[in-house]
Amino acid sequence: MNETIQRTKSMTRNVVEIDHPLIQHKLTIMRDRSTASGKFRMLLKEISLLMGYEATRDLAMTLKNIETPLAEMNAPTLAGKKLCIFSILRAGDGLLNGLLELVPSARVGHIGIYRDPESFEAVEYFFKGPQQLEDRLSLVVDPMLATGHSAVAAIDHIKSKGAKDIRFICLLAAPEGLEALHQAHPDVTVFTASIESGLNEKGYILPGIGDAGDRIFGTSR
Ligand code: URA
Repeated sequence: MNETIQRTKSMTRNVVEIDHPLIQHKLTIMRDRSTASGKFRMLLKEISLLMGYEATRDLAMTLKNIETPLAEMNAPTLAGKKLCIFSILRAGDGLLNGLLELVPSARVGHIGIYRDPESFEAVEYFFKGPQQLEDRLSLVVDPMLATGHSAVAAIDHIKSKGAKDIRFICLLAAPEGLEALHQAHPDVTVFTASIESGLNEKGYILPGIGDAGDRIFGTSR
């Protein structure tokens, strides 16, 4: 029997769950444990293009006078300073590459954060980002919003450097992570392909995709 899945794009409390069929189809292949890392990486990149399209659909525009081969016109172009994509290392790079194809002029920041395996607290070990964050849209990317500790710490840091307009893009979001992020940074909108059931005792998202970094880079044992 064919089961029809009704999906609606939900936007509650600054969360946009993107229900596009192509994203959901690709995500299902990624979830499958038998999908190899090369294919996994390719699908994540493809999804990042589709998610990036959604997360940037209201970018500010201005008009610029140009000449086509046939006529002069005022044509729309992006306004303001170049946006910045902050990748939370290392799995964030799996989303970064696709987003950079979508917005090649974007500036890039990197934030190295690991989860303490006992407390799940975020420990920062690296930060490098562009100047003038107060004038830029910042897209913070990490495939997994699990406990939310890394996302909160990353956004704390970029706010301390002046960032005001921030969006968070993740492949999967746990309700616990959404709650933590919303409590700490209610101004930040989260774009995700799926709001999941919850976390297991090790802080992994269920049903999830497993360890995103390992699956992207083929480092699982
Ligand atoms: N980080 C991952 O890589 N996977 C999870 O499920 C949670 C956090």
